Amino acid sequence: MNLSARLGSHKPAPTLRLSAALQLLAQAGQTLPADIPTGSLSWLQAVIDGLCDLSSRDALTGLSNRRQFELAISREIDRVARAGEPALVLMVDIDHFKKVNDTHGHAAGDEVIKAVGHALQDCVRPMDTVSRFGGEEFAIILPNCPPAFGHTVAERIRLKVQRRAISVAPGVDVSVTISIGGAFAPQWVRSSATLWIERADQQLYRAKAEGRNKACLEQPIMSQVSAEEKGMLFGQSQFQDLE
Ligand code: GH3
Ligand code: MG
Ligand code: MG
Repeated sequence: MNLSARLGSHKPAPTLRLSAALQLLAQAGQTLPADIPTGSLSWLQAVIDGLCDLSSRDALTGLSNRRQFELAISREIDRVARAGEPALVLMVDIDHFKKVNDTHGHAAGDEVIKAVGHALQDCVRPMDTVSRFGGEEFAIILPNCPPAFGHTVAERIRLKVQRRAISVAPGVDVSVTISIGGAFAPQWVRSSATLWIERADQQLYRAKAEGRNKACLEQPIMSQVSAEEKGMLFGQSQFQDLE
C-alpha cells in the first residue's frame, strides 16, 4: 500500500526531489556508478555519499574544508585524551599574498592557493588531514606525531613551497613562501579545538614577526599523568567514589 492510500487521502505520495543534488554532483564532476539502477537504494546511497564528499571539500583546492577540519580535530582530541598519542596541529599562511593578487590578479592568486595546497598534501602522510582553513590559510592535523617528526615535517613543507615555481599564466611563474605555526595537543588531557588552534596561531604570529618563511613550533607540553589517573580515564564513571 502506498503512503497516500495508508493515510486515506488522495494526496500523491511524496517523491524525492533530487534534481538540484544531481546537478551539483554533475557540476563538480562526480559521476554516479553506471552499473547501479537509477532510483535504487544503492543509487540513492551513492548520491548521498557524493553530497557528503562535496560538502566536506573546499571547492578551489579539493582539500578538506573548514567543516571537515572541525570534525577531524574533535576526533583527534578524543584520541589524544583516550590514548595519550602525541598529535600536532600546524597553521600555515602564505606570506605577502596580497602582493600576488595585486601584481598578477585574483585568478593567479587562486592558482597559487591551489599549488600551495597540493604541495602541503604532498608532504604529509595519508593519515594526516590537510584543510583550507580560510583565504590563503591552511591547517594540518598530524595524529601520532612525535615532536622530532613534527619539526621535520614543518620544515619539509616550508622548503617544498619555497622551491616551487607556480605557473600562473603562460610564461609567468610565481614563487611564494609560507609561515608555519605549530602546537602539540597536551597528552592525556581533553583540550578544546579553539585552545589548540589558538596556540598554533600564536606560533604562526611568532613566525611572521620573526621575518616570515619560517616554522615555529611550541614546545610539547609533557603533562605528568600517573598510571592511576590514566586508569581513571578508562573507568566506568569518573564519579564512582561518590556512588
Ligand atoms: P602576511 O605575510 O602578513 O600573511 O601578508 P598577506 O599579504 O598574506 O596578508 P593577509 O593574510 O592579510 O592577506 C590575505 C589576502 O588573501 C587578502 C585577500 O584578498 C586574499 N584572499 C583571500 N581569499 C582568497 C582567494 O580565495 N583567492 C584569492 N586570489 N585571494 C584571496
Ligand atoms: Mg592570512
Ligand atoms: Mg598571508
